Amino acid sequence: MVFPITKNPSDVLRTKGEKIKNPLDQKIQDIIPHMIETMRAENGVGLAAQQIGRALQLCVIEVENIVYIMINPKITALSKETVIMEEGCLSIPGKFFPISRPQKVQVRYMNEKGEKKKLRATGLLGRAIQHEVDHLNGILILDRL
Ligand code: ZN
Repeated sequence: MVFPITKNPSDVLRTKGEKIKNPLDQKIQDIIPHMIETMRAENGVGLAAQQIGRALQLCVIEVENIVYIMINPKITALSKETVIMEEGCLSIPGKFFPISRPQKVQVRYMNEKGEKKKLRATGLLGRAIQHEVDHLNGILILDRL
């Protein structure tokens, strides 16, 4: 099932996601595959729960054929060096903006099995992590211009 994408402006896009207490909760488990399907159908690199109308700390990312399912992600380190890249957002269709962000990011999260994970990333993956974690905090690229 492909979810409709919530488009800006929308209250849910501006709402910080609720922390997920139990990643194995059936409601969470049921949403995840549909989020991946929706992200792929829309040719997105990532999708946050807010973009399917749910204010939860949950996002999915796919870079180089690897799918990352992030529950309650927290950015734990950012590099001082920044890079500017053109960034788009499925909730702001057809628009791209040059956005400056830290080049490197470290994130801690739980995966869909409830396992704790730590990841360091640069490039497109690092960018996608920062973009999606922003969504989970109610922040859009429009706020980063
Ligand atoms: Zn977005």
